Amino acid sequence: MKITRVEPFHVNWGAGRSRSAWIRIFTDAGLWGLGEASPMMHGNASLEIIASAFTPALLGADPMEVRVIQDRLFHEHIKVGPEGAYAAALAAVDIALWDLKGKALGQPVWKLLGGAWRRELPFYASIGGNGRRTVDEVCRVVEQWLELDPAQVKIRFDADKTTRDADLAGDIAKARAVRTLVGDGFPLAFDSNNGYSVQGAIRVGRALEELGYVWFEEPVQHYHVESFAKVAAALDIAVSAGEQEYTLQGIKRLIDAGVDIVQPDIVKTGGFTGLGDMAALARAYGVDLVPHQTQPSIGHTANLHFVAALTHSHHPAEYNGPREIQDVVFKTPVRPTRGKFVLSDAPGLGLELEEAELKKRMVPWESSAFRRE
Ligand code: CA
Repeated sequence: MKITRVEPFHVNWGAGRSRSAWIRIFTDAGLWGLGEASPMMHGNASLEIIASAFTPALLGADPMEVRVIQDRLFHEHIKVGPEGAYAAALAAVDIALWDLKGKALGQPVWKLLGGAWRRELPFYASIGGNGRRTVDEVCRVVEQWLELDPAQVKIRFDADKTTRDADLAGDIAKARAVRTLVGDGFPLAFDSNNGYSVQGAIRVGRALEELGYVWFEEPVQHYHVESFAKVAAALDIAVSAGEQEYTLQGIKRLIDAGVDIVQPDIVKTGGFTGLGDMAALARAYGVDLVPHQTQPSIGHTANLHFVAALTHSHHPAEYNGPREIQDVVFKTPVRPTRGKFVLSDAPGLGLELEEAELKKRMVPWESSAFRRE
């Protein structure tokens, strides 16, 4: 089997919305695989890297050789990366190749990864935008989410990354109100989105410890690894980070700094292949890996397959919420049932497209800076 066509494209979900950056990889066997890159700035940079840098190396390759392909692509143009959009482009290719591999073998990806510890996956509600809400508004939004039966709730503050410690007392008040709302014992997590100084983070972290939160996510700027070390050393609560790391070495730096939970993302870190290496690294150090993932269809499904096959995974999977707008391009929308996402035996990722609906929204990526002869 050989790769005959690589098709990076946007899916335009409508004016004002972030476009998705997807890819299809076609073969001479008539099969294709579907992948997704991180949608930062609509994934433009990743789509361009796929179109101009990766496609020439992919055409003619055997799609079953996913690891060789990833290592080759990673090193071929490494000076363009290896972080950010570059790693996300690798991720899109890798996810599509695993989908393709599953279809070629007639097996779901979770089985090819070694099998599933569980096929019904609990999730945690990942609730953003709480910095702008009042205490009462935060509680109302959490209440709405509880109707979906999450196993855990995470409140995110989506901070302005150019400010610090904007409202420590207000953030703590919201954390306390949510604890009162859900009652003692219900698992809660808190995500500052890089909003605090070391001192601010320690103050909030001590409040979260008192309130029984499970983890404290990205308390400081992601690139201040030494600050993570100080915060992690000062607090008993699990400190988590990693959604802004793209390489195995980046995750190792966080682990070395004392971060307790690492959160790399399958659409940013080289897909199943890249994330699998990070899982092995985390396991070697006894650190939990709880992947970050907020893309509602392909990214989310790929993440569920990964998490199902992950050894020692006792935390729920991230779920950023139903987005009806994306449901229409799939025969079966990706939704939880009674608090769980259920993985099927369908080959590959198990996602079936409504081709006509996708076609209406599909915008082929046309490389502007470079055209092959
Ligand atoms: Ca986060």
